[in-house]
Amino acid sequence: MDRTSRVVSAEELERQRAFAARVRDHYALRGRMPLAWTQTFGCQQNEADTELIRGMLAEMGFGFCEDVDEADIVLINTCAIREHAEDRVYGNVGELSHAKKKNPALITVLCGCMAQQKHVAERIRSSYPYVDIVFGTHALPRFPQLLFECISRKKRVFDLEGDERGYILEGVEPVRQKGRRAWLSIMYGCNNFCSYCVVPYVRGRERSRTPEAILAEFKSLVAQGYKDITLLGQNVNSYGSDLGGACDFPTLLEMIDEVPGEFWVRFMTSHPKDASTRLFDVMARSERICSSIHLPVQAGSDRVLHEMNRRYTAEKHLSLVDYARSVMPDITMTSDIIVGFPGETDEDFQKTIDLLERVRFDSLFTFIFSPRRGTKAWDMPDPMSRENKQRNFDRLLAVQNRISREKNDEYVGRRVRVLVGEEENEKSYNNEYTKQSRTEGFKLVYLRGAEGLEGRFVDAIIERSSTWALFGAVADGESR
Ligand code: SAM
Ligand code: SF4
Repeated sequence: MDRTSRVVSAEELERQRAFAARVRDHYALRGRMPLAWTQTFGCQQNEADTELIRGMLAEMGFGFCEDVDEADIVLINTCAIREHAEDRVYGNVGELSHAKKKNPALITVLCGCMAQQKHVAERIRSSYPYVDIVFGTHALPRFPQLLFECISRKKRVFDLEGDERGYILEGVEPVRQKGRRAWLSIMYGCNNFCSYCVVPYVRGRERSRTPEAILAEFKSLVAQGYKDITLLGQNVNSYGSDLGGACDFPTLLEMIDEVPGEFWVRFMTSHPKDASTRLFDVMARSERICSSIHLPVQAGSDRVLHEMNRRYTAEKHLSLVDYARSVMPDITMTSDIIVGFPGETDEDFQKTIDLLERVRFDSLFTFIFSPRRGTKAWDMPDPMSRENKQRNFDRLLAVQNRISREKNDEYVGRRVRVLVGEEENEKSYNNEYTKQSRTEGFKLVYLRGAEGLEGRFVDAIIERSSTWALFGAVADGESR
């Protein structure tokens, strides 16, 4: 693939800036700053896309509000990964009709993965007449133009156009959420075509940003005070495969680890087929790359993994886990599991349980299979009843909850480094452990004695544990 052609050209960026200026002028006539309300469904990649869109909105003169009723523009960035996610979006889009009745000048926008699908755009066109702009993932760089067309011609705008090879957008400053955590996209799209997954269809082919662009953004995040930075990609382990051998993911991690400053770096997602022992060696050697990995296994049965087109076996996953633990004994591990993939039997499912008991993940993201139109699994025979799937799912949760609890119990009495957050805890024991913090392994720790330490790395002594969190006190000697 010719990577350079994937970067949005300087000319196109200028064109969009000109549209942004015209939108700004349009709203300036009203004599007050226009406000935008945004909502994001789905994964961190979507969060990062919304931050880019917010960056474009800021360039168009918009401020941001928390209340739909105050907004001049409402934008919902959607997720297509499961039917449940789409149903929630339709519910929220339905709600927009009230906002539009109250304020007919309101501009309503639906974008992202769900909007990239033709059948969704058609449904919005025919059944949700109060949605003004619909654009898919490929049209994101054209958002200023679409907004200008909508407000100047007072007509609905639909844009699902775009090359499935996708684009790389540089030169737009994202407006990030406040706090110490930041997302940094290092690549976009996916080439893997897991048979259940819609991502390659709605986000296009894999393409990597250059290490120079990533490092520049990373340094800027550190300078702005972000201390917990997550590198994003659907399969970070194949980062750079389109860069002609210039840089791979472990090398990128090494470069990032050399950036001066006080920070932690994490990354997601790692596909087991592409994770290498070199990745774990680099993590083990590094100063600031967290000993923590999200390594989705999806299933424990090789037959099911094959049908899923995952291209690894349970044994290969286990060997990665063993190697990671041999070089980082304290590494925290999380994973994704799909229950009830078409044709999965109770015997297959038992292999997933066996794998969980063997690996003992710190926590899991668990899903019941949801058929996605256009994917290979959409047409696969699926004889297991919904009740049976739900039963297996409940069993999986019970097993994992026990393991999570046991793993958290092992922390009691230990001294751990944490990054103190700004948020207060509503569920603390006797209102004692009030401050949220995170360990290097992203375990949630509620702290006592942490007032005034927001945004700082401190040591804490863990005093209690539950299935979902740890509770601790700031260690002696940690000054304010
Ligand atoms: N790229 C990542 C990977 O390979 O693991 C994650 C992509 S996806 C946003 C996150 C998770 O959603 C997947 O790991 C999978 O467990 C789940 N998922 C994807 N498609 C699904 C489907 N059709 N039904 C149920 N779960 C699904
Ligand atoms: Fe979907 Fe598989 Fe790509 Fe992950 S690697 S985004 S699960 S197709």
